[in-house]
Amino acid sequence: MTAVDEIIARLDARQTCDTGLTLDPWAFDNPQSRNSYGPGASITDSVPRSAPRQGLLPELYRHSTDDELRERISSAKATLGSSLLILGHYYQRDEIIEHADFVGDSFQLAKNATERPDAEHIVFCGVHFMAETADILSTPEQSVTLPNLSAGCSMADMADINQVEDCWEQLLEACGSGAAADGRAPIVPVTYMNSSAALKAFCGRHGGIVCTSSNARAVLEWSFARGQRVLFFPDQHLGRNTAAAMGLDVDRMPVWNPYKPMGGGSPATYRQAQMILWKGFCSVHQRFTVEQIEGARAAFPGVTVIVHPECSMEVVNAADGTGSTAYIVKRIEQAPAGSAIAVGTEINLVNRLAAEHPDKTIFCLDPVVCPCSTMYRIHPAYLAWSLDRLLEGEVVNRITVDGATAEQAKIALERMLRVHP
Ligand code: SF4
Repeated sequence: MTAVDEIIARLDARQTCDTGLTLDPWAFDNPQSRNSYGPGASITDSVPRSAPRQGLLPELYRHSTDDELRERISSAKATLGSSLLILGHYYQRDEIIEHADFVGDSFQLAKNATERPDAEHIVFCGVHFMAETADILSTPEQSVTLPNLSAGCSMADMADINQVEDCWEQLLEACGSGAAADGRAPIVPVTYMNSSAALKAFCGRHGGIVCTSSNARAVLEWSFARGQRVLFFPDQHLGRNTAAAMGLDVDRMPVWNPYKPMGGGSPATYRQAQMILWKGFCSVHQRFTVEQIEGARAAFPGVTVIVHPECSMEVVNAADGTGSTAYIVKRIEQAPAGSAIAVGTEINLVNRLAAEHPDKTIFCLDPVVCPCSTMYRIHPAYLAWSLDRLLEGEVVNRITVDGATAEQAKIALERMLRVHP
């Protein structure tokens, strides 16, 4: 298997989305620099001032070779034994995945975190909202570490609690705050798992719920049984794609832009709405286009195209299948030998699937190599550093959610688990 780092090193700069990808991740660890998430798909997204930033990694780790880092991680892991649990998201680089006790999507990993109450330390190789969810669902005795604090999620950062509170007030003013004759609330808030703990808590407080890309439809059915409208944040595409597949009218899904007065719409627009979508998106999945799908079909007649529902509706409609990361993995596993499958999701996962299925032709729809910027920030050097500090009895980069927020967020998460365990 060839790691994405090695592939990038061999490529011409025009074959990647950002020349910064060839630099070490710590080149972007300047806490004063607030203009980017680092190289990769979200390079042009703006980082909120409140987003945590990683300080400079000690020199020892910056200067270690790949083999030295692998050895440090393996040795620390062996010493820490069952007191340590390393979780690795599918989009992590291979050099991280090889050390993970569990590999999965954000929902699978959140559940894995609850399966090992004996593990005193959970090291989450993923992004910030995932570590928060692990902290909410784990026991108070367990610590959760994010090896690089700059590993946020630009989509999750597109909706903050103050903006959502403002939106909510304005929508209730426009739509009324009383229940309808059938008892349904005017609006039910639904947040994607890819959101801060504060937004999950907001949903817990206001009769709302959390969803993932694998249970979004069941969650929306639950929500419409209880509300006349849904406010869906932060990913407009998952909301639109799921609601459209349920037969809802796309013309009744206005997009709320938090940077415009009244979200950019009129009160009447929101009164008539079925879904109010937040103007958020994933920079990785928004790169996929219908032209890329046409190109794949021309180059590989008979190719199957599968994409993640964070892609635009046009892309989802042009594909042969759409679903969560778990769906994509399963669909590839079940495809017969000799199949050609073009995939619209993050490059680390696509390359790993291609290596695991050499009897099938599996490739990323996007010809340009452009990993998730923030997943990319978790380099083995940060993992080695955080594990070495654990060996010394120090928990670095601990992610904690305060008790009140955690309690309310848990309400929304538990509603989701009752709808779709
Ligand atoms: S792939 Fe998209 S949604 Fe996932 S962590 Fe990266 S920016 Fe966030």
